[in-house]
Amino acid sequence: MDLSAILPIPDLMAAKNLIVFSPHPDDNEVGAGGTIAKLIDQGCQVTYVIATSGQAGSEDGQMSPDELAAIRKKEQQAALEILGGGRLIFLDYPDTQLKKYEEALGQDIIRVIRDIRPDFVMAPDPWLPYEAHPDHRTLGHQVSTGVIMAPFALAQPDLGTPVPSPAIAYYGSAWPNTVIDVTETFDRKIQALSAHQSQFSPPLGPQLMMYLTLMAQETGRPKGVERAEPFKVLTPHHLHFNAFTWQS
Ligand SMILES: [Zn+2]
Repeated sequence: MDLSAILPIPDLMAAKNLIVFSPHPDDNEVGAGGTIAKLIDQGCQVTYVIATSGQAGSEDGQMSPDELAAIRKKEQQAALEILGGGRLIFLDYPDTQLKKYEEALGQDIIRVIRDIRPDFVMAPDPWLPYEAHPDHRTLGHQVSTGVIMAPFALAQPDLGTPVPSPAIAYYGSAWPNTVIDVTETFDRKIQALSAHQSQFSPPLGPQLMMYLTLMAQETGRPKGVERAEPFKVLTPHHLHFNAFTWQS
């Protein structure tokens, strides 16, 4: 069923006040860096909310979690500056452990939505098939729940003044319905990713950049643009009791 006549898909590029939720430092740049830069360029106010400090993001274990967290916070700050700058909030939950803290995380998400009053939020798509990272699934689910709960005055009254639900744009979605031309900002996305030096040293860094470049070209081709990023954009009405959302 085509729901678009009764539930139009909001225009992501009309966002004026955006919260980008991320499980770890670097996910926002991987999934949406070109679009975030483009939105900042046109005056959109951007707030990053990073659920963990990325303190488990090392395979050699040479650094302590606290040392790595300090480095990754600086890298995230630098990356956001390259994209154009914005507010940066770390919730400091333990990396890889979000599932254990799901209830508190969900409350933090509602609190920050009610405080910042965004018209759009972004998050990783928790329904991505084969997504094995539990932090990505947990955060995506909790942001989706926060979007539909934010307006209910009698639900969680201690978490701030209720606000209208924002629209949501999932990055890393298998069923995108929105393609953003990022030809002009793609180089900044790659520079911002390069700021995450602790994560993207060779050989992974160059491989990731090549993958993202090919994906951006592939995504843009049907639209006749050089480079693009895909999103699944939904309203709160798509996110409850709606059997056709996956086709929207
Ligand atoms: Zn991640």
